[in-house]
Amino acid sequence: MATEETLVLVKPDGVARGLTGAILARIEAKGYALVDIKLVEPSRELLAQHYAEHEGKPFYEPLLEFMMSGPVVAIRVAGNRVIEGFRSLAGTTDPTTAAPGTIRGDFGRDWGVAVQQNLVHGSDSPESAARELGIWFA
Ligand code: GDP
Ligand code: MG
Repeated sequence: MATEETLVLVKPDGVARGLTGAILARIEAKGYALVDIKLVEPSRELLAQHYAEHEGKPFYEPLLEFMMSGPVVAIRVAGNRVIEGFRSLAGTTDPTTAAPGTIRGDFGRDWGVAVQQNLVHGSDSPESAARELGIWFA
């Protein structure tokens, strides 16, 4: 199995709550490599590219507003099967029901707002990873 790369984002809720270090620690403890990392204040244009698949859905506008509400940490992470592996570390999308032991399951909850504030993003396929790394690490 060839080494893969994936895009991980610590979303504004994760940065604001001071969880960046805890999230990075889990990635490193799993044995994945941090290849590049930066703090970004993403533009609407960048986010529209990143979340193009969700345009038109009810949570799309709240999602973009949320992602522009504060800085995001963008990380290029490498390892064998890291795309699937980070999704597993992150847990399922809804933090209320994400499994305990995952980032979203341990640190996330429903805050009663229009978008699920679920702390992290991870690319969902090799095609998404290539596309998203090109957007965030152009
Ligand atoms: P992910 O790949 O697990 O991050 O989930 P998706 O790609 O399906 O959705 C992107 C992001 O939009 C999620 O991480 C959430 O922040 C948000 N989101 C997705 N689905 C919903 C939903 O049904 N309701 C709300 N309020 N937010 C959602
Ligand atoms: Mg997704």
